[in-house]
Amino acid sequence: MVGDVAHAAISAAKESAIPVFTLGVRRVRADDCLVMSKSLPETETDGREGIGARGPSPPPEPGLYVVATPIGNLRDISLRALDILAGVSRVYAEDTRVARKLLDAYGLKPWLGAYHDHSDESARREILEALAAGESVALISDAGTPLISDPGFKLVRAAIEAGFKVVPIPGACAALAGLVASGMATDRFMFLGFLPAKQVGRRTALEGVADIDATLVVYESGPRLADSLADMADILGDRPAAIARELTKLFEETRRSALAALAAHYSGAGPPKGEIVIVIGPPLRTKVSDDALDAFLVSHLSGGVKAAASEAARALGVPRKRAYARALALRDNV
Ligand code: SAM
Repeated sequence: MVGDVAHAAISAAKESAIPVFTLGVRRVRADDCLVMSKSLPETETDGREGIGARGPSPPPEPGLYVVATPIGNLRDISLRALDILAGVSRVYAEDTRVARKLLDAYGLKPWLGAYHDHSDESARREILEALAAGESVALISDAGTPLISDPGFKLVRAAIEAGFKVVPIPGACAALAGLVASGMATDRFMFLGFLPAKQVGRRTALEGVADIDATLVVYESGPRLADSLADMADILGDRPAAIARELTKLFEETRRSALAALAAHYSGAGPPKGEIVIVIGPPLRTKVSDDALDAFLVSHLSGGVKAAASEAARALGVPRKRAYARALALRDNV
Protein backbone atom coordinates (compact mmCIF):
# COMPACT_ATOMS: atom_id res chain seq x y z
CA MET A 1 0.00 0.00 0.00
CA VAL A 2 1.08 3.49 -0.66
CA GLY A 3 0.76 6.08 2.08
CA ASP A 4 -1.72 8.96 1.95
CA VAL A 5 0.94 11.54 1.34
CA ALA A 6 2.45 9.56 -1.50
CA HIS A 7 -1.04 9.20 -2.98
CA ALA A 8 -1.53 12.94 -2.71
CA ALA A 9 1.81 13.52 -4.41
CA ILE A 10 0.90 11.11 -7.20
CA SER A 11 -2.47 12.81 -7.70
CA ALA A 12 -0.73 16.17 -7.81
CA ALA A 13 1.72 14.74 -10.32
CA LYS A 14 -1.18 13.45 -12.42
CA GLU A 15 -2.84 16.86 -12.39
CA SER A 16 0.36 18.65 -13.27
CA ALA A 17 1.58 15.95 -15.60
CA ILE A 18 0.52 17.57 -18.83
CA PRO A 19 2.30 20.89 -18.35
CA VAL A 20 5.21 19.17 -16.69
CA PHE A 21 5.87 16.38 -19.16
CA THR A 22 5.03 17.70 -22.58
CA LEU A 23 8.41 16.86 -23.98
CA GLY A 24 7.77 13.76 -25.98
CA VAL A 25 7.22 11.16 -23.31
CA ARG A 26 4.52 8.58 -22.88
CA ARG A 27 1.14 9.63 -21.59
CA VAL A 28 1.04 7.07 -18.81
CA ARG A 29 3.76 8.96 -17.01
CA ALA A 30 1.89 9.68 -13.80
CA ASP A 31 0.79 6.05 -13.59
CA ASP A 32 4.44 5.12 -13.81
CA CYS A 33 4.90 7.00 -10.59
CA LEU A 34 2.11 4.99 -9.03
CA VAL A 35 3.60 1.67 -10.13
CA MET A 36 6.97 2.79 -8.90
CA SER A 37 5.59 3.79 -5.51
CA LYS A 38 3.69 0.50 -5.14
CA SER A 39 6.86 -1.47 -5.65
CA LEU A 40 8.61 0.31 -2.82
CA PRO A 41 8.40 -0.95 0.75
CA GLU A 42 5.69 0.69 2.82
CA THR A 43 7.14 3.43 5.00
CA GLU A 44 5.94 6.44 6.88
CA THR A 45 6.19 9.45 4.61
CA ASP A 46 7.77 12.62 5.88
CA GLY A 47 5.29 14.97 4.22
CA ARG A 48 7.51 15.82 1.30
CA GLU A 49 5.51 16.31 -1.81
CA GLY A 50 6.64 15.60 -5.31
CA ILE A 51 7.19 12.94 -7.84
CA GLY A 52 10.27 11.66 -6.10
CA ALA A 53 8.65 11.26 -2.69
CA ARG A 54 9.66 7.76 -1.57
CA GLY A 55 9.11 7.90 2.14
CA PRO A 56 11.57 9.38 4.56
CA SER A 57 15.20 9.63 3.54
CA PRO A 58 17.64 10.64 6.20
CA PRO A 59 18.45 14.34 5.87
CA PRO A 60 21.59 14.80 3.78
CA GLU A 61 24.81 15.05 5.75
CA PRO A 62 26.37 18.50 5.89
CA GLY A 63 28.19 19.29 2.67
CA LEU A 64 27.90 20.74 -0.80
CA TYR A 65 25.82 18.64 -3.20
CA VAL A 66 26.40 19.30 -6.91
CA VAL A 67 23.10 18.16 -8.39
CA ALA A 68 22.49 17.47 -12.08
CA THR A 69 19.06 18.40 -13.44
CA PRO A 70 17.47 17.56 -16.84
CA ILE A 71 18.59 19.10 -20.14
CA GLY A 72 15.04 19.05 -21.53
CA ASN A 73 12.97 16.07 -20.56
CA LEU A 74 11.86 16.54 -16.97
CA ARG A 75 11.85 12.80 -16.33
CA ASP A 76 15.63 12.80 -16.63
CA ILE A 77 16.20 13.52 -12.97
CA SER A 78 17.38 10.93 -10.52
CA LEU A 79 15.42 9.92 -7.44
CA ARG A 80 18.52 10.73 -5.44
CA ALA A 81 18.60 14.24 -6.89
CA LEU A 82 14.98 14.71 -5.79
CA ASP A 83 15.80 13.40 -2.32
CA ILE A 84 18.72 15.79 -2.01
CA LEU A 85 16.81 18.80 -3.33
CA ALA A 86 13.98 18.04 -0.92
CA GLY A 87 16.27 17.46 2.04
CA VAL A 88 19.00 20.10 1.94
CA SER A 89 18.61 23.28 3.93
CA ARG A 90 19.45 25.49 0.93
CA VAL A 91 19.49 25.23 -2.85
CA TYR A 92 21.58 27.65 -4.90
CA ALA A 93 20.98 28.14 -8.61
CA GLU A 94 22.40 30.34 -11.36
CA ASP A 95 18.95 31.74 -12.15
CA THR A 96 16.39 31.44 -9.38
CA ARG A 97 13.42 31.97 -11.72
CA VAL A 98 14.46 29.06 -13.92
CA ALA A 99 15.22 26.97 -10.84
CA ARG A 100 11.86 27.79 -9.23
CA LYS A 101 10.01 26.53 -12.32
CA LEU A 102 12.04 23.34 -12.32
CA LEU A 103 11.56 22.71 -8.61
CA ASP A 104 7.84 23.49 -8.86
CA ALA A 105 7.54 20.79 -11.52
CA TYR A 106 8.66 18.26 -8.91
CA GLY A 107 6.57 19.79 -6.13
CA LEU A 108 9.67 20.98 -4.28
CA LYS A 109 9.81 24.27 -2.40
CA PRO A 110 13.28 24.56 -0.92
CA TRP A 111 14.95 27.73 0.28
CA LEU A 112 16.46 29.13 -2.93
CA GLY A 113 19.37 31.52 -3.46
CA ALA A 114 21.36 32.76 -6.45
CA TYR A 115 24.93 31.69 -7.11
CA HIS A 116 27.17 32.55 -10.03
CA ASP A 117 30.96 32.13 -10.18
CA HIS A 118 31.32 35.61 -11.64
CA SER A 119 29.11 37.43 -9.18
CA ASP A 120 30.75 39.07 -6.21
CA GLU A 121 32.26 36.98 -3.46
CA SER A 122 29.30 37.43 -1.13
CA ALA A 123 27.23 34.45 -2.32
CA ARG A 124 30.26 32.18 -2.09
CA ARG A 125 31.01 33.45 1.41
CA GLU A 126 27.37 32.93 2.40
CA ILE A 127 27.48 29.32 1.20
CA LEU A 128 30.78 28.61 2.96
CA GLU A 129 29.35 30.05 6.17
CA ALA A 130 26.29 27.82 5.85
CA LEU A 131 28.56 24.81 5.34
CA ALA A 132 30.61 25.85 8.37
CA ALA A 133 27.39 25.96 10.39
CA GLY A 134 26.77 22.31 9.48
CA GLU A 135 24.16 22.92 6.78
CA SER A 136 23.67 20.87 3.65
CA VAL A 137 23.65 22.94 0.46
CA ALA A 138 22.75 21.93 -3.10
CA LEU A 139 24.00 23.64 -6.22
CA ILE A 140 22.04 23.32 -9.47
CA SER A 141 22.34 25.07 -12.82
CA ASP A 142 19.68 26.01 -15.37
CA ALA A 143 20.03 22.60 -17.00
CA GLY A 144 22.31 19.59 -16.86
CA THR A 145 25.37 19.21 -14.70
CA PRO A 146 26.64 22.24 -12.78
CA LEU A 147 30.26 23.27 -13.55
CA ILE A 148 30.04 21.89 -17.12
CA SER A 149 30.01 25.20 -19.02
CA ASP A 150 28.02 26.41 -16.02
CA PRO A 151 28.80 28.07 -12.67
CA GLY A 152 30.19 26.18 -9.70
CA PHE A 153 33.89 25.53 -10.19
CA LYS A 154 35.06 28.34 -7.91
CA LEU A 155 32.56 27.32 -5.27
CA VAL A 156 33.56 23.65 -5.35
CA ARG A 157 37.23 24.57 -5.15
CA ALA A 158 36.60 26.92 -2.23
CA ALA A 159 34.53 24.28 -0.43
CA ILE A 160 37.28 21.68 -0.87
CA GLU A 161 39.95 24.11 0.30
CA ALA A 162 37.89 24.86 3.39
CA GLY A 163 37.63 21.13 4.13
CA PHE A 164 33.92 20.61 3.41
CA LYS A 165 32.46 17.50 1.85
CA VAL A 166 31.57 17.86 -1.86
CA VAL A 167 29.17 15.26 -3.22
CA PRO A 168 28.28 14.87 -6.92
CA ILE A 169 24.72 13.83 -7.71
CA PRO A 170 25.17 12.75 -11.34
CA GLY A 171 22.62 13.03 -14.11
CA ALA A 172 22.03 14.64 -17.48
CA CYS A 173 24.84 16.36 -19.34
CA ALA A 174 24.44 17.46 -22.96
CA ALA A 175 28.08 16.75 -23.80
CA LEU A 176 27.80 13.09 -22.83
CA ALA A 177 24.33 12.66 -24.33
CA GLY A 178 25.60 14.11 -27.63
CA LEU A 179 28.74 12.00 -27.55
CA VAL A 180 26.99 8.70 -27.01
CA ALA A 181 24.49 9.36 -29.81
CA SER A 182 27.12 10.65 -32.24
CA GLY A 183 28.64 7.39 -33.42
CA MET A 184 32.12 8.86 -32.89
CA ALA A 185 34.78 7.01 -30.90
CA THR A 186 34.07 7.24 -27.19
CA ASP A 187 37.25 5.67 -25.80
CA ARG A 188 39.01 9.02 -25.74
CA PHE A 189 37.25 12.36 -25.95
CA MET A 190 37.95 15.97 -25.11
CA PHE A 191 35.28 18.44 -24.04
CA LEU A 192 35.98 21.96 -25.28
CA GLY A 193 32.88 23.71 -23.94
CA PHE A 194 32.01 26.80 -25.99
CA LEU A 195 34.70 27.95 -28.43
CA PRO A 196 35.40 31.71 -28.56
CA ALA A 197 32.59 33.54 -30.35
CA LYS A 198 34.90 35.60 -32.57
CA GLN A 199 36.39 33.85 -35.57
CA VAL A 200 40.05 34.61 -34.82
CA GLY A 201 39.78 33.20 -31.31
CA ARG A 202 37.81 30.22 -32.51
CA ARG A 203 40.37 29.34 -35.18
CA THR A 204 43.22 29.71 -32.69
CA ALA A 205 41.42 27.41 -30.25
CA LEU A 206 40.90 24.85 -33.01
CA GLU A 207 44.56 25.04 -34.08
CA GLY A 208 45.44 24.17 -30.48
CA VAL A 209 43.52 20.87 -30.55
CA ALA A 210 43.97 19.83 -34.19
CA ASP A 211 46.59 17.19 -33.38
CA ILE A 212 44.84 15.69 -30.38
CA ASP A 213 43.99 12.07 -31.04
CA ALA A 214 40.53 12.11 -29.53
CA THR A 215 36.91 12.83 -30.32
CA LEU A 216 36.12 16.50 -29.66
CA VAL A 217 32.88 17.70 -28.06
CA VAL A 218 31.84 21.34 -28.44
CA TYR A 219 28.84 23.38 -27.32
CA GLU A 220 27.58 25.79 -29.97
CA SER A 221 24.67 28.08 -30.74
CA GLY A 222 22.47 27.90 -33.85
CA PRO A 223 23.50 31.27 -35.34
CA ARG A 224 27.22 30.41 -35.16
CA LEU A 225 26.93 26.78 -36.23
CA ALA A 226 27.63 27.02 -39.98
CA ASP A 227 30.65 29.31 -39.55
CA SER A 228 32.06 27.17 -36.77
CA LEU A 229 31.70 24.01 -38.85
CA ALA A 230 33.45 25.68 -41.79
CA ASP A 231 36.37 26.67 -39.55
CA MET A 232 36.48 23.17 -38.10
CA ALA A 233 36.62 21.60 -41.58
CA ASP A 234 39.33 24.04 -42.56
CA ILE A 235 41.52 23.61 -39.50
CA LEU A 236 40.87 20.06 -38.34
CA GLY A 237 40.43 18.50 -41.76
CA ASP A 238 37.18 17.12 -43.11
CA ARG A 239 36.50 14.71 -40.26
CA PRO A 240 33.26 12.86 -39.62
CA ALA A 241 31.05 14.71 -37.17
CA ALA A 242 27.59 14.82 -35.63
CA ILE A 243 25.31 17.69 -34.73
CA ALA A 244 23.15 16.69 -31.76
CA ARG A 245 20.32 19.18 -31.37
CA GLU A 246 17.56 19.53 -28.78
CA LEU A 247 18.61 16.35 -27.00
CA THR A 248 15.87 14.72 -24.89
CA LYS A 249 13.33 17.23 -26.25
CA LEU A 250 10.46 16.96 -28.72
CA PHE A 251 12.52 17.99 -31.75
CA GLU A 252 15.62 16.00 -30.90
CA GLU A 253 17.75 15.40 -33.97
CA THR A 254 21.23 14.04 -34.66
CA ARG A 255 22.70 14.78 -38.09
CA ARG A 256 25.87 12.91 -39.03
CA SER A 257 28.16 13.72 -41.93
CA ALA A 258 31.62 15.15 -42.67
CA LEU A 259 32.37 18.63 -41.33
CA ALA A 260 32.40 20.36 -44.73
CA ALA A 261 29.07 18.81 -45.77
CA LEU A 262 27.53 19.79 -42.42
CA ALA A 263 28.84 23.35 -42.85
CA ALA A 264 27.30 23.49 -46.34
CA HIS A 265 24.01 22.09 -45.05
CA TYR A 266 23.59 24.63 -42.24
CA SER A 267 24.85 27.48 -44.36
CA GLY A 268 22.11 26.67 -46.90
CA ALA A 269 19.34 25.78 -44.45
CA GLY A 270 20.01 28.69 -42.11
CA PRO A 271 20.68 28.60 -38.38
CA PRO A 272 18.87 25.75 -36.66
CA LYS A 273 16.74 26.46 -33.60
CA GLY A 274 17.51 25.08 -30.20
CA GLU A 275 20.53 23.85 -28.30
CA ILE A 276 23.43 22.14 -30.01
CA VAL A 277 26.35 19.84 -29.31
CA ILE A 278 28.96 19.28 -32.03
CA VAL A 279 30.85 16.00 -31.84
CA ILE A 280 33.89 15.67 -34.12
CA GLY A 281 35.68 12.39 -34.79
CA PRO A 282 39.42 12.05 -34.08
CA PRO A 283 41.99 12.97 -36.74
CA LEU A 284 41.58 10.77 -39.81
CA ARG A 285 43.64 7.64 -39.50
CA THR A 286 44.77 7.36 -43.09
CA LYS A 287 48.30 8.68 -42.88
CA VAL A 288 49.05 11.16 -45.64
CA SER A 289 52.77 10.95 -46.39
CA ASP A 290 54.88 14.10 -46.63
CA ASP A 291 55.48 13.34 -50.32
CA ALA A 292 51.75 13.06 -51.05
CA LEU A 293 51.05 16.24 -49.11
CA ASP A 294 53.83 18.11 -50.90
CA ALA A 295 52.59 16.99 -54.30
CA PHE A 296 49.10 18.20 -53.48
CA LEU A 297 50.34 21.53 -52.15
CA VAL A 298 52.64 22.22 -55.10
CA SER A 299 49.71 21.82 -57.46
CA HIS A 300 47.64 24.27 -55.37
CA LEU A 301 50.26 26.86 -54.43
CA SER A 302 49.30 29.21 -57.23
CA GLY A 303 46.29 30.28 -55.13
CA GLY A 304 48.54 31.20 -52.18
CA VAL A 305 49.83 29.38 -49.10
CA LYS A 306 46.69 29.82 -47.01
CA ALA A 307 44.34 28.61 -49.71
CA ALA A 308 46.58 25.62 -50.53
CA ALA A 309 46.75 24.65 -46.84
CA SER A 310 42.98 24.94 -46.43
CA GLU A 311 42.36 22.88 -49.53
CA ALA A 312 44.78 20.19 -48.34
CA ALA A 313 43.08 20.08 -44.95
CA ARG A 314 39.68 19.71 -46.61
CA ALA A 315 40.66 17.27 -49.34
CA LEU A 316 43.23 15.11 -47.52
CA GLY A 317 41.95 15.45 -43.96
CA VAL A 318 45.35 16.57 -42.65
CA PRO A 319 45.47 19.22 -39.90
CA ARG A 320 45.66 22.65 -41.47
CA LYS A 321 48.64 23.54 -39.27
CA ARG A 322 50.70 20.76 -40.83
CA ALA A 323 49.61 21.65 -44.38
CA TYR A 324 50.33 25.34 -43.77
CA ALA A 325 53.84 24.68 -42.47
CA ARG A 326 54.62 22.46 -45.47
CA ALA A 327 53.12 24.96 -47.91
CA LEU A 328 55.25 27.77 -46.46
CA ALA A 329 58.40 25.68 -46.76
CA LEU A 330 57.54 24.70 -50.32
CA ARG A 331 56.82 28.28 -51.34
CA ASP A 332 60.12 29.47 -49.84
CA ASN A 333 62.00 26.72 -51.67
CA VAL A 334 60.40 27.40 -55.03
N1 SAM B 1 25.65 22.23 -17.79
C1 SAM B 1 25.02 21.88 -19.04
C2 SAM B 1 25.27 20.40 -19.32
O1 SAM B 1 25.53 19.65 -18.39
O2 SAM B 1 25.14 19.98 -20.46
C3 SAM B 1 25.47 22.76 -20.16
C4 SAM B 1 25.15 24.19 -19.94
S1 SAM B 1 25.68 25.23 -21.22
C5 SAM B 1 25.36 26.81 -20.52
C6 SAM B 1 24.37 25.14 -22.38
C7 SAM B 1 24.81 24.47 -23.68
O3 SAM B 1 24.76 23.07 -23.54
C8 SAM B 1 23.88 24.78 -24.84
O4 SAM B 1 24.19 26.00 -25.47
C9 SAM B 1 24.13 23.61 -25.75
O5 SAM B 1 25.33 23.77 -26.47
C10 SAM B 1 24.29 22.49 -24.73
N2 SAM B 1 22.98 21.88 -24.44
C11 SAM B 1 22.24 22.00 -23.32
N3 SAM B 1 21.11 21.32 -23.42
C12 SAM B 1 21.12 20.72 -24.64
C13 SAM B 1 20.23 19.87 -25.33
N4 SAM B 1 19.07 19.50 -24.79
N5 SAM B 1 20.56 19.46 -26.58
C14 SAM B 1 21.74 19.84 -27.13
N6 SAM B 1 22.61 20.64 -26.52
C15 SAM B 1 22.32 21.07 -25.29
